[in-house]
Amino acid sequence: MLKRYGFLVHSLSDYPGEVCSVVFIPVCNFHCPYCHNKTLTEDVKRDGLELSAIEVYLQKARKLISGVCISGGEPTTDPSDLMLLIERFKRLGLKVKVDTNGSHPEVVRLISPLVDYIAMDLKTSLDRYPQLAEPAEQTSLVANIKTSMQVVLQRAPGTYEFRTTLARDWIDEAALRNLGSQIHPSAHWYLQRCYIAQHKPETPQDGEIIERYLAIAKNYCNNVFFRP
Ligand code: SF4
Repeated sequence: MLKRYGFLVHSLSDYPGEVCSVVFIPVCNFHCPYCHNKTLTEDVKRDGLELSAIEVYLQKARKLISGVCISGGEPTTDPSDLMLLIERFKRLGLKVKVDTNGSHPEVVRLISPLVDYIAMDLKTSLDRYPQLAEPAEQTSLVANIKTSMQVVLQRAPGTYEFRTTLARDWIDEAALRNLGSQIHPSAHWYLQRCYIAQHKPETPQDGEIIERYLAIAKNYCNNVFFRP
């Protein structure tokens, strides 16, 4: 049976500077409690599209979109499938962005020369990463995250970002300091709002908390941005 994917024809918020379609890989090796795609696997079983159908949509939308964001799930869980998607979307003349949790640095290294943009999540302090991952992923996980960071950092400015969702219980001042100490001062690091109600920073002062978090991140990195 041919693989199916989630698909969003049109997005203004998933690829900086581009109008893109989004392809969702319905498998993930993490189980972040605040995941916005918890029902993705079931949704894709019900409504997913095969690659050939996605290509038909992309051809039709070609005048409206300039890129494709391959998101998830975790795109690096199936490297050959990821390579196929990249090749087919590039063949259509589209820019390609890949979102990753950084758990498979060998795949991040493999695709880095082939894609136009990589967004790597920095989810929590490194010592807590194993709490987010499937057991099979936990060996070498912290080393893998560090290696992926190094691979992503080798990209040109404007072709990558690190991003941290401000999810309560996973990101606090200590976690930001821990991540900040790993990040290069020239890196581009986005702190982004968490929209899952029970995982947002405490309200009603979440604006103050976000300001504090930004100030901490800026101690480590010159290019820190907030994504509302
Ligand atoms: S890595 Fe992303 S897709 Fe996977 S569980 Fe975490 S938030 Fe969800």
